[in-house]
Amino acid sequence: MTTTMTQKPLQCDVLIVGGGPVGGVLAGLLAAIPLHIVVVDHLAPEEVLHKDQDGRTTAVSWGSSRIMERMDLWQKLLPHTTPIRQIRVSQSSSPGFLHFNQEDAEGHPMGFILENRELRKALYQMMSDRENIRLITPHSVKRLVSHPLNVEATLSNGQIIQAKLIVGADGRFSRIREEAGIKSHTMHYHQTAIVTSVQHEKPHHHIAFEHFLPTGPLAFLPVKTHHSSVVWSLKNEWAAAMQSLSQEEFAQELEIRFPYLGKLTLTSKRWLYPLAATLPRRMKAERCVLIGDAAHAIHPVAGQGANLGFRDASTLATLVHESARLGIDIGNETVLSRYQRRRLKDVASMTCMTDGLVRLFSHPSRTLAFMRGQGMSLVNVIAPLRKCLTRHAMGIGL
Ligand SMILES: Cc1cc2nc3c(=O)[nH]c(=O)nc-3n(C[C@H](O)[C@H](O)[C@H](O)COP(=O)(O)OP(=O)(O)OC[C@H]3O[C@@H](n4cnc5c(N)ncnc54)[C@H](O)[C@@H]3O)c2cc1C
Repeated sequence: MTTTMTQKPLQCDVLIVGGGPVGGVLAGLLAAIPLHIVVVDHLAPEEVLHKDQDGRTTAVSWGSSRIMERMDLWQKLLPHTTPIRQIRVSQSSSPGFLHFNQEDAEGHPMGFILENRELRKALYQMMSDRENIRLITPHSVKRLVSHPLNVEATLSNGQIIQAKLIVGADGRFSRIREEAGIKSHTMHYHQTAIVTSVQHEKPHHHIAFEHFLPTGPLAFLPVKTHHSSVVWSLKNEWAAAMQSLSQEEFAQELEIRFPYLGKLTLTSKRWLYPLAATLPRRMKAERCVLIGDAAHAIHPVAGQGANLGFRDASTLATLVHESARLGIDIGNETVLSRYQRRRLKDVASMTCMTDGLVRLFSHPSRTLAFMRGQGMSLVNVIAPLRKCLTRHAMGIGL
């Protein structure tokens, strides 16, 4: 892991801008064959790993855990994870709930809850261990020029990097997307997610709860015994009001809306995340592709954003490996078009699904609330449909 100021152009095969969860996983997958990879991030590891930086956990799907196993990362993460054995979806306007069980998933956990800090820590360690990955921080790309045989990026410290392929993994406000001239469309939900951790009186039994309230979805995700991570999405004005409450008052508000885990006590500060969905028109430009939130930021309602990104990374790594083995230019138009084609269906369906869920469950109509309740009861008894949705949530068979 180095921070460099040399002026001689640095040559590499793949330049990944953004060493977040998705960019980091891509680096690890690509490093399995002798490609030279440079990862540039505008934040230094100390800043990213600071306890106040990110309070989120990620619900890593079963499918994503298999991707991380391929790069020997999962074995290191496993001790820090809590398995999800059931998912319960409910709404405040009716007593019924939709229930997904790991029995519908050949007995595997449906996913795992993992602290973002643990994931980032393990990715830094992996990048530092691999000789063919070089991490450059804290710098960003100021200028991007593509040539017939390579792409040239100028960093904020003046360093020039020449690569066959540049990957924008720099999150939902992607600078690379902008530099590559890829237009995007943003849908504002006018909602903010409040993220915190709680201790509760009753056990969670490894259940991930998604409880829909008229003001937005409230999720309780199991972490250690009698502890859960909370993601409460609320209209902006409600979020501001809730944020002004004391820790005890906030815990009471949570308890009123979600009494199933008994008495709640907050065990961390509260973080705020404004919510929007961003969808670019394309996922590629000349010698450039987008992955992760740079390519599709979605509402966190179903905990699928990072999982979608890990599947981008997996698809791209497979195509790059195939091309490199055959001696084909890895930044070639055919390779990048193939990547875009293979990812479009998954990205479009997940974006529509999460957006549809938010709109469907926030609609105030009582008829619709009744129909949602009936729909959930119906899915519970139609085993093939329930199994299909379970596999979708697990990120397999997509
Ligand atoms: C409240 C909340 C809960 C969520 N829960 C889940 C969940 O349970 N499961 C799930 O799958 N998803 C979840 N998500 C979504 C998930 O967090 C994102 O999809 C995921 O972080 C995307 O990873 P990424 O690496 O693409 O982008 P990011 O996490 O945004 O990382 C981008 C990286 O690029 C760097 N960067 C940014 N700009 C620049 C620049 N100009 N130059 C250089 N580097 C730059 C950043 O420092 C960072 O390291 C949640 C989201 C929210 C808001």
